[in-house]
Amino acid sequence: MTATRIDGKAFAARLRERVGEAALSFAQKAGRKPGLAVVLVGEDPASQVYVRNKGKATLAANMESFEHRLPADTSEADLLALVETLNADPAVDGILVQLPLPSHLDEQSVIASISPDKDVDGFHVINAGRLSVGQSGFVPCTPLGCMMLLTDQLGDLSGLEAVVIGRSNIVGKPMAQLLLDANATVTIAHSRTRDLKSVVSRADVVVAAVGRPEMIGKDWLKPGATVIDVGINRLPPEPGAGKGRLVGDVAFGEASEVAGAITPVPGGVGPMTIAVLLRNTAIAAHRNEGLDPPEGL
Ligand code: NAP
Repeated sequence: MTATRIDGKAFAARLRERVGEAALSFAQKAGRKPGLAVVLVGEDPASQVYVRNKGKATLAANMESFEHRLPADTSEADLLALVETLNADPAVDGILVQLPLPSHLDEQSVIASISPDKDVDGFHVINAGRLSVGQSGFVPCTPLGCMMLLTDQLGDLSGLEAVVIGRSNIVGKPMAQLLLDANATVTIAHSRTRDLKSVVSRADVVVAAVGRPEMIGKDWLKPGATVIDVGINRLPPEPGAGKGRLVGDVAFGEASEVAGAITPVPGGVGPMTIAVLLRNTAIAAHRNEGLDPPEGL
């Protein structure tokens, strides 16, 4: 068997197009574009690339991008003051503080200071609580993107056995909640799980969010399983090569021999994250103006 390759890049491009159209129609009704503010503290090179890409994607989706770059030694009081200003700014619908923050800043306090209605990353405890009790709020972008790919691939997930490997607040836990809401039977596995391989091998749906290169081989998978690989790991470079290859938590080549469908790395879950961030921002803009977000976002 050769698995269907789930093309997250193409799905994300279509989603971004729909978001762009929603942003245009929003602007006609509201007299302004949806706005996303991104705050970057310090000079972490990976974060700088993410912030630049988010800015470009925001503009390409017919939205306003507000970038705030602060020095690495910014005090927590100054950062919280900026978030307060953005909370009060009617041109800003979504606020994203790029993580990780420098170690002298408390991430939880900073996230808690963002208005839950502008928390398009879905990291605020209010939004985590809303997801947990089934109220509408903002769902973290990566797991929501995974869920969109799963629904597109499988349709109804009712009764399927799903195993999520990883229990972080930004991926594993919200992913498990979304699968539960879709009526899957959900197991959350983590570093203390006993006999992980046998737990994974009974799953119809596997979501791997661990951060260990190619940990999951073909002998872990139930034949026909749908595999969503969230992991992004860079292998050490080959001799003479500049950068090592990017791989997921699943050994893509061999897993494709057993799985029914699988996301590649790169080109699977990764592109979904920014697309869902833009989608959440478009929805925030509609809610902030008392408008109904368009169907199908
Ligand atoms: P994280 O906070 O480090 O969480 C990793 C989880 O994996 C933890 O729950 C940990 O268990 C579990 N784990 C670690 N080693 C394990 C093992 N040997 N067996 C079973 N479970 C194990 O990471 P994260 O932020 O959730 O991210 C996970 C991966 O997804 C990373 O590779 C990250 O780069 C990637 N990611 C990708 C995107 C995207 O846009 N595609 C977005 C976010 C993250 P414990 O809780 O017991 O420690």
